[in-house]
Formats: sequence, structure tokens, C-alpha cells
Amino acid sequence: MQCFVRKNLTGESMADSICKVIETIFFPTKSNLNKQADERQYFRNFAKNFDGMKCNYHTHCTYCDGKEPIEAFVKQANEIGLNHLGFSSHAPVPNENDFAIEENRIPEYVKEVHSFQENSNTQLFVGLECDFIPGMTQKFDHYRNEYQLDYIIGGVHLVRPANDERLWFIDGSKREIYDAGLDILFNNNIQKAVTTFWEQSFQMLEEEHLDIIAHLDKIKMHNQHRFFTEEEKWYIDLVDHALSLIKKNDVIVEINTRGLYKKRCDAFYPSDYILAQAKKMHLPFIISSDAHKSEELNLYYNEAVQKLKSFGIDQLVHLDGNHWKEYDI
Ligand SMILES: [Zn+2]
Ligand SMILES: [Zn+2]
Repeated sequence: MQCFVRKNLTGESMADSICKVIETIFFPTKSNLNKQADERQYFRNFAKNFDGMKCNYHTHCTYCDGKEPIEAFVKQANEIGLNHLGFSSHAPVPNENDFAIEENRIPEYVKEVHSFQENSNTQLFVGLECDFIPGMTQKFDHYRNEYQLDYIIGGVHLVRPANDERLWFIDGSKREIYDAGLDILFNNNIQKAVTTFWEQSFQMLEEEHLDIIAHLDKIKMHNQHRFFTEEEKWYIDLVDHALSLIKKNDVIVEINTRGLYKKRCDAFYPSDYILAQAKKMHLPFIISSDAHKSEELNLYYNEAVQKLKSFGIDQLVHLDGNHWKEYDI
């Protein structure tokens, strides 16, 4: 595994031990992820009780860090009556890891998704969830064009501090990793750390072509009301700027339910303030479960619909050919 800090240090044992810490903190491996006990599943077959169109474009199968093969998701989607199912494996990132698809496997991944279409009532789509890390990640258009993808979800999971090659992993199940990165990379300056996350999102929105922005405010997940509140002016200013860039660049906002069913967050991504603003700005929405198992495909779907309706949002978008079109919920 490549360790970015090693480049800046000589070969003393101290350097090696720091390296080990950084590796452990910032690059959780698949085996580590598998070891984390999956919390109880709260599978509820909501889709069967819901009359509208049902789509989920954010899923992870075994080509990345998902736990089941494509076939299992297709089978479940057909059983619960999803109209559209999209696969969004994590796109490659520059460091060695086992949570992202390897680029040389993307053609096989795309082909395999397509191979299930003939026997599926659910319409299938294939995309990638691309990480944006300034100066490190491949252009999103490279993947879209090279592999004829239906869509790109863009997101920030690894935050790069200015003039640093180390990365702060803000996702995953372990709060200690978030806290250690905050300490080591940002001297526990939460405003600086969170601002860096949002600025990386701004840069992604300005420099890349993405259809959907993933879990817009995931930075709140491990905060859980400890270091900052979402009502602070500096935080609201960052959110407002992100929304203005989403509007300007025609990006879709996803209501991501994963934090709730994994019990890692007490709210949807994004939070109520963002939903209210997004409604005022007429931004387009989708609902995603960010499923890593087939039984997660429609978790909290109806709650998400109710949440949107409570803000007067009664339309989502779905893929129709190459275009995203609105439909009523
Ligand atoms: Zn994600
Ligand atoms: Zn995801």
C-alpha cells in the first residue's frame, strides 16, 4: 500500500510507525470493512406499498465494496418492483485500496450489468461513483466517455488538506478515524477541516461533469453535534455556496438514506435546511439508498418521500435515454 507520508520522511523507525498509523487511519481495507459487524437490518418492503415510480441509482456490488453480486441486486429489484436500478461502483482512486473498482475491470462490470437486462423487468443502468481529490483523481469525463456510462455520481469521501498528500477519510463506520484525521491533519481545527471538505466539493462542482452529487453533507456524519452545529453562520455560508454551484451546473441532489438505516447519522443527507433551500431554488432530486446489499435497495424510501413532501417537494427525476426527466411522487 502506498503511504503518502513516507515521501516526506526519512527511513527512521519513527517515520515508519507514523506511516503505519496513517495507513490504518486513512485507508480502510475491504477485510477491515468486512470485519465491522453489520448492524441489524431494518428491511421494510416499502416499495410494494408505494404506487409511484421507484428508482435507485446509487448501489455498490462486489466490483467495489458492495457485499453481493450484480445478479442479487437485479433479482431483488425485480421482486420489490423497482422501475430503475443503477449501479455506481466506486471509481478508482490513486492509492492502493480494495474499496474501488480496478479500471481494467470496468468493461467487464458494464457488460455484466447489461447482460441482465433481457430477463429483468427493472430497467438497468450503469455508472460510477467518482471521488474527487484535487490533483489526484482522473477526470470524470474520462470514465463516462471511455466506458459509455449512463451517469456519474460525484462525491467527496477523502479530503485533501492544502499542500498535503495525506487524506482525511470522512466516511466509514469508525468515528475514531474521523477524529484522528481531524487531529493529525487539521490540528483539531474543525472549521478549517470542514471548510476544506466543502471547498473540495465546490471544486468538484466547478471542474467536473457530474449528474448527481452524492450525500452532499456527509461531513456531518461523524460530527454528530460534537464539534460544530449546522446552524453556525460559517457552515451555512459554505452550504449556500455549494447549492449555488449545484444550481449553476445543473447537478441533481440525492436524498441519501444510508446514514439512517446504518444508524450512523440521525438525519438524511442532506439536512432539512438544505432541502428547504433546494426547494426554493427548484433543484432536481433523486432518492438513493446507497445500497451495499440487495436488501438495502429500498430502505427508508417512503420516509424519504414523506420528508420531501413535507418541504413541498413532489417531483423526482429519472433517466430517460440520455436525459433526466421529472416525475411526480
Ligand atoms: Zn459515497
Ligand atoms: Zn456510494
